[in-house]
Amino acid sequence: MMLKEYVRDIQDFPKKGILFKDITPLLASPEATNVCLQKLTEKLKNVKIDKVVGVESRGFFFGTLLAHELQAGFVPVRKAGKLPFTTVSASYELEYGTDTLEIHADAIQKGDKVLVHDDVLATGGTIKAVCELVEALGGEIVQVSFLMELLFLNGGDKIKAYDRFAVMEY
Ligand code: IMP
Repeated sequence: MMLKEYVRDIQDFPKKGILFKDITPLLASPEATNVCLQKLTEKLKNVKIDKVVGVESRGFFFGTLLAHELQAGFVPVRKAGKLPFTTVSASYELEYGTDTLEIHADAIQKGDKVLVHDDVLATGGTIKAVCELVEALGGEIVQVSFLMELLFLNGGDKIKAYDRFAVMEY
């Protein structure tokens, strides 16, 4: 199956100069979704995962599927102000300004084996902040996975410390 045929390029979204990778055609196909899920879990079959951390909002789709497939719990990381309980937060630099991500303070227990997942690795700022949150709570990151890695943005350099896997590379 040519998985990349299920990823749609949108020019100038959400702003001019950005070529946005739209995964909604992939999500709409049960076959393509299943192929992605199999690839994402292939190397984790005999690995214990306690929690899958998914990043708002497109990291939630496969994050929950992965958690179910691996029989792990699912933990959402969200933008500031969205989570109802006590949170721990991390900020990261954007092109203009900063953004803040949060996780529930009790979402991960010390020593939990964690899989961190998001749809796209671009500059790596987002995922680095997410990894900081997981480690602040005492989680051990087993792998960081993505549907897509945009290689030309070198986001992988920001998360060199971790095992990294992407289903598709551009
Ligand atoms: P980064 O922090 O620059 O690595 O950006 C990654 C975050 O932005 C992820 O949460 C992605 O969902 C989102 N993102 C960046 N580029 C794209 C894209 O082309 N398609 C979909 N999401 C993107």
